[in-house]
Amino acid sequence: MENKLSFYNTLTRKVEQFIPNEEGKVAMYTCGPTVYHFAHIGNLRSYIMEDLLEKTLRYVGYDVKRVMNITDVGHLSSDADTGEDKMLKGAKREHKTVMEIAKFYTDAFFSDCSKLNIKTPDVVEPATNCIDEFINMIKVLMEKGYAYESGGNIYFDTSKLEEYYVFSSQSEKELLVGVRDDVDEDENKRNKSDFVLWFTKSKFDDQELKWDSPWGIGYPGWHIECSCISMKHLGEYMDIHCGGVDNIFPHHTNEIAQSESFTGHKWCNYWFHVHHLNDKSGKMSKSKGDFLTVSLLESKGYNPLIYRLFCLQSHYRKPLEFSYEVLDNMGAAYDKLVKKIGTLNKDGEIDKAAFDEYRARFEAALCDDLNSSMAITVLYDMLKADISDATKFALAESFDKVLSLDLTTAHLASEADNGVDAELESYILAKIEERKAAKKAKDFALADAIRNELLEKGIVLEDTREGVKWKKA
Ligand code: AMP
Ligand code: ZN
Repeated sequence: MENKLSFYNTLTRKVEQFIPNEEGKVAMYTCGPTVYHFAHIGNLRSYIMEDLLEKTLRYVGYDVKRVMNITDVGHLSSDADTGEDKMLKGAKREHKTVMEIAKFYTDAFFSDCSKLNIKTPDVVEPATNCIDEFINMIKVLMEKGYAYESGGNIYFDTSKLEEYYVFSSQSEKELLVGVRDDVDEDENKRNKSDFVLWFTKSKFDDQELKWDSPWGIGYPGWHIECSCISMKHLGEYMDIHCGGVDNIFPHHTNEIAQSESFTGHKWCNYWFHVHHLNDKSGKMSKSKGDFLTVSLLESKGYNPLIYRLFCLQSHYRKPLEFSYEVLDNMGAAYDKLVKKIGTLNKDGEIDKAAFDEYRARFEAALCDDLNSSMAITVLYDMLKADISDATKFALAESFDKVLSLDLTTAHLASEADNGVDAELESYILAKIEERKAAKKAKDFALADAIRNELLEKGIVLEDTREGVKWKKA
């Protein structure tokens, strides 16, 4: 098949044509959530854009196998192997066991994903399922001389590598600035950039989950889980590895170090990273206390798909600043869009040439480094075009396989809510606009006539401070 898709590869630092190892097939891995708390909408931006990548790959014809881990052990408060274990922190906060916390927040994560129409990966594997695989990889790394024991822990020795900072020409000092939180030095390490593969002596003796290992009772480091879980399900060669940009260093850098030392060959060819969602004070993070969740947006009356549209309207490689003002604009745009699609008469002839033309334009936008906002522009252009309703409806249905905004079904939910069909609703909205213009032109007779005409159709208008509202009589 033709390889049409290009996207930015963090490994080569350029936009590249995507060519998988095996023709037509894609082995894809995503770093999953650390399930000690709800996902914030920043985390979910990463998962939305990775979902877009997966669906684009499928749309252009690839057979994708996507794997994701669930981090339920080993992720410390600082990515540099220091600080408290995140899961334990969650358990203490809620007076529950680590496994209870993991179960609750894994379910919450998939519930958020489902509200955002994020497809569940083909394989989802919690880290605590794979302790044997972790121990096996660490054993091999020890045998090959890439790992050492010090102070009761097993560390990866980064000085044994030809190149450790694979992702960047930045200096070690610059990279470590990004590691955040409390970077306090671990005296057991031979080199500053070494990292833990297995803990038996952590500062936190109250660690709840521990397993036996050749090096003593303990628990795995965070990075090892992604190398092992991906290899368990995808084998030793992978096409695309995804995550948020904060994962580039040290997490993904360490994953490459241990995976390639383990296998003795290159592991993954393409690295896809999503930039952060920020709020006014900087990167959105859970340590900041109150953080934005899907449930919070819902409690404020927003359909979660409006947040998906908000993400799709900006490029995954640009930082995005969250604001309710922009979200409100997205909400208005979304309502208009789905209402317009709801008024299309889908039972007619589909114009094949027009369908192919717009589908090709839509694909071209996505294949150009996942230009999702351009793909949405193609959707708007198509809806304005002089082509049959049935063609438009079929195209909207097709585009929604990737955009996943419920484009052709959302109007049904709103019809069920307000009891009128999309055609009547768009008529009412047009009449309200006409009446507004009449009032502005001081043509009160016309304004009254419009009100009466709607009343005859069983619709009552109310002039409120927020504008004109309508309801069924
Ligand atoms: P975590 O649950 O902390 O392991 O993070 C889950 C995913 O969210 C990872 O891929 C992170 O890189 C990503 N992530 C964390 N913070 C943000 C943010 N503010 N915006 C976008 N993605 C983020
Ligand atoms: Zn990972």
